Amino acid sequence: MKKILICNKCENRYAVASGKWRCDCGSYFNIEPRPLPQFENLIERAPSIWRYREAYPLERDENIITLGEGLSPVIDYKIHGKTIKLKTDNLFPSGSFKDRGASVMISILKEAGISKIVEDSSGNAGAAIATYAARAGIECDIYVPSYASPAKLRQISQAGARVIPVEGTRSDTEKAALEAAEKSYYASHAFNPLFLEGTKSFIYEVWEQFNRSLPDTLVLPVGNGSLLLGVYKGAVELQMARLIDALPKIIAVQTENCAPLYSLFGSTGDKRERSFKPTIAEGVSVQKPVRAGQIVDAIRRTGGTILTVTETEIRAHLKRAVVNGLYIEPTSAVALAGTEKYLKTGDNEKSILTLLTGHGLKAGEKIAEIL
Ligand SMILES: *Cc1c(COP(=O)(O)O)cnc(C)c1O
Ligand SMILES: [Zn+2]
Repeated sequence: MKKILICNKCENRYAVASGKWRCDCGSYFNIEPRPLPQFENLIERAPSIWRYREAYPLERDENIITLGEGLSPVIDYKIHGKTIKLKTDNLFPSGSFKDRGASVMISILKEAGISKIVEDSSGNAGAAIATYAARAGIECDIYVPSYASPAKLRQISQAGARVIPVEGTRSDTEKAALEAAEKSYYASHAFNPLFLEGTKSFIYEVWEQFNRSLPDTLVLPVGNGSLLLGVYKGAVELQMARLIDALPKIIAVQTENCAPLYSLFGSTGDKRERSFKPTIAEGVSVQKPVRAGQIVDAIRRTGGTILTVTETEIRAHLKRAVVNGLYIEPTSAVALAGTEKYLKTGDNEKSILTLLTGHGLKAGEKIAEIL
């Protein structure tokens, strides 16, 4: 197998089959952008993320683990008087965009002969990875904070994974998973670059759905950056293949209660050290994103920025979405609230796309409390 894993720090290279999920020096791995074909015959290909097969570092088709994830519909939605585009990844097999990363990562791990994995998650990454691991016959342990939504925990354990609840903060959960990973394989959506190979598909689909072009601006929620970094990498690949001229501007959204990337971005003039408070947006409640530097760098390279939204704004957008027929989990309202905030800065001439990240059926009780 090719040595596709490259250390972010010392640039040593490893094959996936080495079973390594981080470099001997301790840093995480990256994977180089892949040259994309011109995609002339897409119309004949099956409607899933695997229609961009050449984009993923998997060697043999027989190892593809898929549930038909991908090509989520793009719909119109009005925010602050403007019609924007919404990609509906909440409709995915396990109920969140994380199926993109899980499908590609698990396929590559299966090909490499990895038979047991651990992951830590506040819910959706765990559910996605447990679901695809079940389909691949890979044994799976998921560490979760004890406060995670009961529906998500049930989803993980019913897929056959072992759920290990950890008391304390989200960081305590990560610590427990890291310890367990010393004797297993850490299939982390934050750490593992194979996951980002799958989230790239988001932007290829947008390119196809926008008639072989991209919208001017993307508004993306960010916690660990598994969506944002995949989208950025996919856009760079589209540009390298001359399928687009310029990168779309990425507007990243965090919650005011947990905004480490906003603080790091800094150039906005706001360098205050912030304390972390709980947020109803549990999916982006990440205090120390592993790839923080990479995320900030990616946003800068697109000419974008980071903004934050309050709990009140998230609640208001959740309510508005649900009564407009979009049944989404509270975290999904972060990007909607962020879109409104961005539009208020006056960039109204441009085409804007954001997404719904997770399904409301995962969080019915929390939604009821909020509404
Ligand atoms: C994971 C998740 C996010 C944030 O994605 P990151 O990859 O952590 O930046 C946003 N919304 C939902 C519903 C999620 O599950
Ligand atoms: Zn290294």
